[in-house]
Amino acid sequence: MEDCIFCKIAAKEIPGKIVYEDDACIAFLDLSQTTKGHTLVIPKAHFDSVLTADPEVVGHVFQVAAMLANKIVKNLGASGCNILTNAGEVAGQTVHHFHIHIIPRYDDKDTIT
Ligand code: 5GP
Ligand code: ZN
Repeated sequence: MEDCIFCKIAAKEIPGKIVYEDDACIAFLDLSQTTKGHTLVIPKAHFDSVLTADPEVVGHVFQVAAMLANKIVKNLGASGCNILTNAGEVAGQTVHHFHIHIIPRYDDKDTIT
């Protein structure tokens, strides 16, 4: 989709720190790094949010997010993580391409926001 920043990252038209890729989705570090290792998982195809995405795509992207969260938590020495998606501006969505946040949580190094 034109003018969608995440479509451009998926197409490698603009750089992203990519940590995982398969045929249907891609994962990269979030610019904001709410905590160390904050990662976004997105489908390569454009859907505005989880509410409009193809259910099969939703299933695949969540499966990849869970798999990556496990690795991120272990590799970075986190104690847990948040896995979440915002749908709609009222819910805090700012980029309107379906994405899942993986936010690692550390014992005493961050505050839950
Ligand atoms: P939302 O608020 O829509 O759930 O989350 C959007 C996320 O995308 C934010 O955490 C923001 O930091 C991240 N973000 C916005 N633009 C870019 C970008 O160009 N590159 C990367 N890597 N992350 C971005
Ligand atoms: Zn898009």
